[in-house]
Amino acid sequence: MQSGETLTAVLESGDTIQYIYDANAPRGGMKHTYFTPDKKFAVQFFNRQEDALDPRLQDRIRTIVGIYNPTIAEEDGGALGNTQKTAEYFRQRFCWPVAIVRQPEFGIVCPAYPDNFFFDAGASAVLNLKGKDKKSNWFTGKNRKYLSPAERGDFRTMLKTAIGLSRTIRRMHQAGLAHSDLSCNNVLIDPKTGSAVVIDIDSLVVPNKYPPEVVGTRGYIAPEVLATMGSDRGRILPSVLTDLHALPVLIYEYLFFRHPLIGPKIYSADSAEEDDFLALGEKATFIEDPNDTSNRPPDLDVTIGSLSKGLERLFIRAFVDGLHDPAERPTAMEWETELLKAWDRLYPCANPQCEKRWFIVRDENDPVCPFCKTRVREKIIRLGLKSEMRGRHGVYREKSDIIVYDRMPLFDWHIYSNVHNDEKASPEMRAYIAQYKGMWLLVNHGAEGMTSPSGRLVPKGSAVELKDAALFRMSGKDNGLLCEVSVNQNKS
Ligand SMILES: [Zn+2]
Repeated sequence: MQSGETLTAVLESGDTIQYIYDANAPRGGMKHTYFTPDKKFAVQFFNRQEDALDPRLQDRIRTIVGIYNPTIAEEDGGALGNTQKTAEYFRQRFCWPVAIVRQPEFGIVCPAYPDNFFFDAGASAVLNLKGKDKKSNWFTGKNRKYLSPAERGDFRTMLKTAIGLSRTIRRMHQAGLAHSDLSCNNVLIDPKTGSAVVIDIDSLVVPNKYPPEVVGTRGYIAPEVLATMGSDRGRILPSVLTDLHALPVLIYEYLFFRHPLIGPKIYSADSAEEDDFLALGEKATFIEDPNDTSNRPPDLDVTIGSLSKGLERLFIRAFVDGLHDPAERPTAMEWETELLKAWDRLYPCANPQCEKRWFIVRDENDPVCPFCKTRVREKIIRLGLKSEMRGRHGVYREKSDIIVYDRMPLFDWHIYSNVHNDEKASPEMRAYIAQYKGMWLLVNHGAEGMTSPSGRLVPKGSAVELKDAALFRMSGKDNGLLCEVSVNQNKS
């Protein structure tokens, strides 16, 4: 066979697919990859004959492509409860295998990554990155400085990336699947748009199937897996709980551009290898551990204490309580929920030079950008969104709260108590915030039955003025939320 030759693969469905032979095909630890002539799909074969012939591996991959597949609707043979809409949603976020190759040998067909996960020619003025995939350490590590500013995104898009990744991993865990090798190499990110795609799905751990032989990636392997790697007995294998270590490592890197466990502490003066093994395994210590500061870098400036209180608590649970006690680690859904709450407290930094551009308002009484220390001069307006408790007429509890900024969009989950910001929610904007002639307004853009504090109807295109202590209904329909405004007079 010669490079460039077109070959035909027969799929298990009986269909055929063409691919271009390449003697220098990209090779990973397990597989090598060819592309279809239109480059829309990758056709992958295993490097080792034993893997390709292993009936347990084949069986595991068949269930991944079929009944566990969240990128195909249940009615088309995909995951239970999956609709066409959620399948489409997750197709953008997983590079999930779509078919199995029977001939010339066992292999898989995966969609190629979407274009925005490849660098284009303008990505760097220094390095030639064109066509390289956007592994997340390009954006969080030392090489970041070589990227053009447009590639780098800002705090808001990195937070969005973290939300997307948490949601994707939550979906996978809901099905009982574990990725087993979640790392900067297997999650591609695009900070320009704030999106992430999870790749190398074929190493998933599937319930009741033999787990794949994955070792994991340095820096993302859970401490207990690394610590027990050499031993035959008591070896801890990748699982949902070990994903729940890798996930917050990635989130922490997206938000802070540093690794949560790599600090100044020396664990073994004799051997660098031993030092690394202890630092990420048995003796791992969070660089921001509030009780044990032995691994704390002296120049730590912005810390988890500058995020929302909820996110700070989750990082403590992940990297202090749960670092060596996997059952204590927050779930992917908890990450998704807290990141979304933080998203609703984002605020644009007034300093045009601020590289992060956005920050989370942790305390409305002391709103300062933690990155450039610029203080907010405007009054901070907080909307407390309350839902009526079931069966208790007139008794409300807070569903969420938001800190508003000019032109902030609001969606169904800000209007109705039974809608959550997830893959099922409509992306249509229902209302927005506008600063107009010194007033702050909430403009109705399609919320039905919105009423003003005095009880008059606020039709589409009309607005409610956001004054301190104002109370109004976001919608008069069932499950419509009550909104309570608090205006914080900033006297700085
Ligand atoms: Zn700033």
